[in-house]
Amino acid sequence: MKIICIGRNYADHAKELKNDLPTEPVIFMKPKSAMLLPEKPLYYPEFTKDLHFECEVVVKIEKNGKYVQQKFANKYYSEITLGIDFTARDLQREQQKKGLPWEVAKAFDGSAAVGTFVKLGEGLDVNNLDFQLKLNGETVQDGHTRDMIFKIDNIIEYASKFFTLNIGDLIFTGTPAGVGPVKIDDTLEGYLQGNKVLDVSIK
Ligand code: MG
Repeated sequence: MKIICIGRNYADHAKELKNDLPTEPVIFMKPKSAMLLPEKPLYYPEFTKDLHFECEVVVKIEKNGKYVQQKFANKYYSEITLGIDFTARDLQREQQKKGLPWEVAKAFDGSAAVGTFVKLGEGLDVNNLDFQLKLNGETVQDGHTRDMIFKIDNIIEYASKFFTLNIGDLIFTGTPAGVGPVKIDDTLEGYLQGNKVLDVSIK
């Protein structure tokens, strides 16, 4: 499986990192080894001094596909959750300054925390979901999927031009404003429509 991630998909977050708004989805990938399973802690990596959380809606692909048209994209998923795109912001800044790829800053082991998946439908409309991240009990990110610059079906169409989608692949759909650093002993909890689906502690 692979993890496809979208960057700068919320205008308020692009602004907080002083990035221009994209005209096409910004895509990067994380390998399978980046996955941090539900309830597992993340050990603060030794190579960064500025580990950031980015809470994102995560879509699980359940059908293989290539060149998926936007109008059929909703047939490729039925479950979502929240995840954290952990980012070594100091390394990312350095890489960006040099015009180099981001992988060391974003695709390291444990950098893709994934919550418990919930079924869409019955009141869960993928384009009308609110979600929050709490850091040590305090809300630090408060997002809504209607604010995505590129909607999930649009992302699937775009990404599947380049990468065959396979059953079990995950798509991290970008983070709203409010990203920030974590430290050892912090706890992060993600709420989707008010229900807790994600719980990560930093060790
Ligand atoms: Mg992100």
